[in-house]
Amino acid sequence: MRYLIFLLLFTVLSASGQEIALTFDDAPRNDTQLFSGQERSKKLIENLKKAQVPDALFFVVTGQINKQNHTRLNDYIAAGFHLANHSHSHWSADRTDTEKYLADIAKADSILQKFENFIPLFRYPYLHEGKTRETRDPIRNYLDKHGYNNGYVTIDNYDWYMDHLLQRALKEGKQVNYEILKDLYINTLWQAITFYDDIALKTLGRSPKHVLLLHENDLAALFIADLVKYIRAQSWKIISPQEAYTDPIASTIPDVLFNNQGRVAAIAKSEGWKIKDLILDSEDEKYLDDLFESKKVFR
Ligand SMILES: [Zn+2]
Repeated sequence: MRYLIFLLLFTVLSASGQEIALTFDDAPRNDTQLFSGQERSKKLIENLKKAQVPDALFFVVTGQINKQNHTRLNDYIAAGFHLANHSHSHWSADRTDTEKYLADIAKADSILQKFENFIPLFRYPYLHEGKTRETRDPIRNYLDKHGYNNGYVTIDNYDWYMDHLLQRALKEGKQVNYEILKDLYINTLWQAITFYDDIALKTLGRSPKHVLLLHENDLAALFIADLVKYIRAQSWKIISPQEAYTDPIASTIPDVLFNNQGRVAAIAKSEGWKIKDLILDSEDEKYLDDLFESKKVFR
């Protein structure tokens, strides 16, 4: 009993004062039914500012940059946010020839170096870092040699699939209940945050400075201020991504091939956790299909 009280106390004490940074992948993304790319960026910036987020990091796929959307990256910079490298072609390191993969990182780098506020962090597309040590290590060595750090995440989730469901419903001409959608987005992301924080508490004995994976999508543009408000209401603090990457886990690079659930999960795996315990239920298309259906988000 005394042990249980201690455990409870520990959980309560460790459940306050956590920190998290916001990152947005795949910028600049295309126009959708709801927003042109430009409208989306504008809304995202407005909402990040409204929520007084200290900084956000946009992981850019340079192959998606064109004459029209080029200025959106400068808009992020003008707002005080930062850019980082998410490759030129968004290939998976698990399925691409290493030489070709490295050349693709270099191509993105040469484009991004021209932008102010660029930070040499590389986020692996799909968080795939290579299926074998033979493919994984040359990429790690290359990044090291070129002054890059891994722009890892600690909170993985399926925000991209929730956005996909919204886009599909809009195309099908369905009515969207945005209030329900907002709650669902926030709740699902909050569950992901606490899921990985809990693994961190059990594995590291502390809560690290977290990095939340999001995408530069319509859901983020619509609901980021509400999400931030919700996170803060749980006594968490929003920090800048650059601060998040000063956490000791930034230099704890576990020797595992299981990297696509983020850094905390990779560290846990290296300490003997089972993969099934490191993946959240909501990181699943069928799970989200059913959830959206049961909550009647679309009509
Ligand atoms: Zn991506």
